[in-house]
Amino acid sequence: MDFTLTPAQQDLQQRAEAVGRSLAEEVRQWDESDDAPYAEIFQRLGAAGLFGVCMPTEFGGQGGGAMEYLIVVEALFRYSQSWLPPEPVFCTSGPGPSMFLLGDDAVKDKYLHDIVAGKRGCNIALTEPDAGSALTHLSTTAVRDGDSYILNGYKSFVTGSNVNDLNATFVRFDDIPGAKGIGAVVVETSMPGVEIRRGPVYIGDRGIHHGDMVLTDVRVPAENVIVGPGQFARLMTAFNLERLHNCGFWLGFSQAAYDEASAYTQRREAFGKPIIDFQSVYHSMADMWVQIEALRLLAYRAAATAIDGRFPRLAEVTQAKLFGATIGPQISLKAMELHGGYGPTTDFAIQRIHRDCVTNVVAGGAPAVLRNGVAAGLFPHRKFSQA
Ligand SMILES: Cc1cc2nc3c(=O)[nH]c(=O)nc-3n(C[C@H](O)[C@H](O)[C@H](O)COP(=O)(O)OP(=O)(O)OC[C@H]3O[C@@H](n4cnc5c(N)ncnc54)[C@H](O)[C@@H]3O)c2cc1C
Repeated sequence: MDFTLTPAQQDLQQRAEAVGRSLAEEVRQWDESDDAPYAEIFQRLGAAGLFGVCMPTEFGGQGGGAMEYLIVVEALFRYSQSWLPPEPVFCTSGPGPSMFLLGDDAVKDKYLHDIVAGKRGCNIALTEPDAGSALTHLSTTAVRDGDSYILNGYKSFVTGSNVNDLNATFVRFDDIPGAKGIGAVVVETSMPGVEIRRGPVYIGDRGIHHGDMVLTDVRVPAENVIVGPGQFARLMTAFNLERLHNCGFWLGFSQAAYDEASAYTQRREAFGKPIIDFQSVYHSMADMWVQIEALRLLAYRAAATAIDGRFPRLAEVTQAKLFGATIGPQISLKAMELHGGYGPTTDFAIQRIHRDCVTNVVAGGAPAVLRNGVAAGLFPHRKFSQA
C-alpha cells in the first residue's frame, strides 16, 4: 500500500500545519481558562480552506475523502498541540456532516450547504447518562406526530454543545427496541424544549464544552430525519469517521509528545551532557517513534481502504483507534517522565498534552469495547452477547 501523498494532499497538509502552528501560542490560555475564542478559531480554519474537506463538491465541499480528512486533522493536532483546532473540520466534514450523506435530499438540502460552508457547525449527540458503550440501549425517543417527531431524552458529553447549533442526534424511533429502533435526527439548539447544560469539567480537551442536551417534548419536522429506524449498521458507517478523527488525534498528539521530548532531551543536561546522550533516553525516543510509525500505517490503511474513499471500514479503523488509544497515553507519559520534575508542571506543554491524551482514551468508544469488536472479527464463532 503506497501512502505517498499527492501534490494536492501535500498542499492540504501544509495549510493545516501552518494554521496549527499559528494557533500554538494560544492553546495554553484556552486550556488554563477552559475558554476559547471558538468563532475566531473557526474563521481561521475557514480562511485556510479547511472546511468540508471530505464533503462532495455539490454541497460546496472539497470532494476529498477519508485520507484528506486524516491528513488535515493529524497536522492540526500535531502542530497546534491542541485538540481544538480540528473541531471546525470535524463539524463541517466529520461524522455528523457525513451522516447527512446517507439521508434524503430534503435534509441534505436544508442543512448541508450551510454546514459545509461553515455557517453552522454540527455536533454529534449519541451518548446518554446510562448508554455510552451500550449505545444500542439508548432511551431518547422520537415518536411520530403528524409531520413531526416529538423527542424526549437526555444526551451527555456533547462536544461543542455551547458553540454549534446543530446536533446529529441518535434517537429511538417509536419505541422499537434494540439497534433496529435507532436512527438519527437533526436537533437545532434553538428549538423549543432543548436545554443545553454545562456538563462536566474535564482535565483535558478544554476550551469548549462537552455539555448535556436535555430534550423535553421537542417537535422536530419529519424532514430532519437523517436516517430512520432499521439502518443502524449504515448509520455507524458514517460514525466510523469519528474513529478516524480519533486516529488523527493519537497520531498528532503522539508526535506532539515526541516533539516536546525530542527538544527537551537535547536541551536538558545532567552529569554534564544532554540527557539524550544517555542510552536509555536515546532508546526511549526510538521506541516512541517506531510506535508512531506503526500507528501511522494502521491509521493510513484505515483511510486508504475506506468505502467509496469516504467511510472507513469498521475493522481497520477500530484496530487503528485501539492501537492509538493504547500507545498514545504511554508515549505522552514517557515524554513527561523525560522532562523530569518539570514535566508535570504547568510551565511545560507536555502535561497538557498528556491530560488531553488521558481525556481521549474512551472518547468515541472505550478500548474494551473496541477489543470486543476486534476479537469478534477474529473469532466469529465465539461471538457472545455483551449485554
Ligand atoms: C472528551 C470526550 C468527548 C466526548 N464527546 C462526545 C460527543 O461529542 N458526543 C457523544 O455522543 N459522546 C461523546 N463522548 C462520550 C463517549 O463516546 C463515551 O464516554 C464512551 O462511548 C463511553 O461511554 P461511557 O462514558 O458511558 O462509559 P461506559 O459505557 O460506562 O464504560 C465504562 C467502562 O466500562 C467498560 N465496559 C463497558 N461496556 C463494556 C463491554 N461491552 N465490554 C467490556 N467492557 C465494557 C469499559 O472498561 C469502559 O471503559 C465523549 C467522551 C469524552 C471523554
